[in-house]
Amino acid sequence: MRPYRGRFFAGLVALFIGASFGLVFPLLAGALIDAAINGGRTSLPLLGSLTINQIALTLAVTISIQAAGSFNSALSFSHVGQSALADLRSATYGRLLALPMTFFGQRRVGELASRVSTDIAQIEGALIDSLPQACRQVVFLGGGLALIATTSLPLTAVMLGTLPLLIGAAVFFGRRLRRFSRETQDRLADSQTIVEETLQAIASVKSFANERFELERYSTANHATLAVALQAARWRAVFVAFFIAALFGGILIVLWYGALQLQAGALTGGELTRFVLYTTFVGGAMAQSAELFSQVQKTVGATQRVREILRESVEDNSAPANDPNATQPERLRGEVTFDRVSFCYPARPDAPVLHDVELVARPGERIALVGPSGAGKSTLTALLLRFYDPDAGALLIDGRDARSYPLHWLRNQMALVPQDVLLFGGSIRENIAYGRPGADDQAIEAAARQANAHDFIMSFPEGYATLVGDRGIKLSGGQRQRIAIARALLKNPAILILDEATSSLDSESERLVQDALDRLMEGRTTFVVAHRLATIRDVDHIAVIDGGRVVETGTHDELSARPDGLYRRLSSLQFGPR
Ligand code: ATP
Repeated sequence: MRPYRGRFFAGLVALFIGASFGLVFPLLAGALIDAAINGGRTSLPLLGSLTINQIALTLAVTISIQAAGSFNSALSFSHVGQSALADLRSATYGRLLALPMTFFGQRRVGELASRVSTDIAQIEGALIDSLPQACRQVVFLGGGLALIATTSLPLTAVMLGTLPLLIGAAVFFGRRLRRFSRETQDRLADSQTIVEETLQAIASVKSFANERFELERYSTANHATLAVALQAARWRAVFVAFFIAALFGGILIVLWYGALQLQAGALTGGELTRFVLYTTFVGGAMAQSAELFSQVQKTVGATQRVREILRESVEDNSAPANDPNATQPERLRGEVTFDRVSFCYPARPDAPVLHDVELVARPGERIALVGPSGAGKSTLTALLLRFYDPDAGALLIDGRDARSYPLHWLRNQMALVPQDVLLFGGSIRENIAYGRPGADDQAIEAAARQANAHDFIMSFPEGYATLVGDRGIKLSGGQRQRIAIARALLKNPAILILDEATSSLDSESERLVQDALDRLMEGRTTFVVAHRLATIRDVDHIAVIDGGRVVETGTHDELSARPDGLYRRLSSLQFGPR
């Protein structure tokens, strides 16, 4: 909230003015009664002797000032609260985007989405409602007590006597409330994860007719949330009940004592009225504080989770400053060396995925990675993109350790054409420009032509402005791939990673895609994660990977000639024995 402190203090001043005039109300109300009893007039500090009508008019004026103050403070606090929230949302999202892949490997997407939305909504309640309320209660509590004290010290002592009990209760219950709140938010995140995951894969859910199964899974999670929330509610209820009993007990004592005083003639009727009104102010403020306190405890539970995200360390995007070779080339040549690289995923430190991988790609070469499922092919490309760093050995790019390049610069030298092309809900133009944000229309069209995408794009009535995704057209698999290729062409990377689609396209579509790919690969070092061996006959090298090791390397002909080779076995599975 620091950037908005000016506005915050303005709100505080308005609130203070409004609440102070609120405190004048019992004073004037008491005076009204005294005036009635004393023959129509009474004298007031600062204002002198006033008639009943004058007092009523003064009351109306103070009420107007109180309303104006409340209006201004409500506006200022909402402004501050909402602005701070918008910043918090952006900061959390920005932080999430910048977190390393390791983090995403260990969390579920739905849980993260839940943190960003529900936890921040909880904080919103606290910032916009509770905070101004708390400030107002402080004024009422402080002012009310002070004004009571000027009337009767013994009564004030009675009021204050209940405080230690109340504070002790607040601390005791607060701890429990905070724990339950955190647990509720965690359970909520669990159930939200299920919603997100199933909606993302709705086609699978329906094709397996698993709607009922998913609903039950969700209900279980939902009931778990409910159970924790109800437990928290019980503690809250006990707390509030206890608080109210203590509070009204206090008020009862004050009233009883006040009545005795009135009977003895030590207090006037107006004074007692004033007294009772102030006591309800103070009592109301205390009761509100109890509710606010439990609200704050809930929010602290929620902020812990958001702050966990804000505290995570992000990817380091700067090159090590002490590297002697740190002058940046304009562009990479594209030489890639895996030098005895070993690696295991941080999530599973006891399961090594790559062992001593040796692999060299000279600039412009095409390397195919083949091997059984789970062999480690995608892992190699993940290391190349520096989603992870090797545990042992090194990844050298143009002869330098990959870690000596600034991360974003390095990734900008590469392009990934994945199996599953992610298209955003914008226009085709925007989707292609994702390869190089800010690219002009000519460049986009040139890339689309090279990617064999121009013709099908122009066949849509709105051409490049056609919306894709939920609110637009759905593109076929082959069309999506060609958009992805256009994106990569626009990016013009030195190193290319193709994760070849497993599903085969029809031969016409496949020819168009292959043709576009050939153009894309020209002059770039390319790693092809190949599932269908037919598409990689003319690459420069094939690296056969099995169990995280490079077991064979060579050209298609060389490898096919090896009698007991894994490549030969894999290709005889795909093409039949020769
Ligand atoms: P496929 O051809 O089926 O895509 P692949 O050769 O690309 O397989 P990888 O995806 O590299 O295989 O996986 C290699 C091993 O690493 C597998 O045993 C897999 O279970 C494991 N693995 C992959 N990703 C992760 C991850 N994020 N966290 C932990 N283990 C992982």
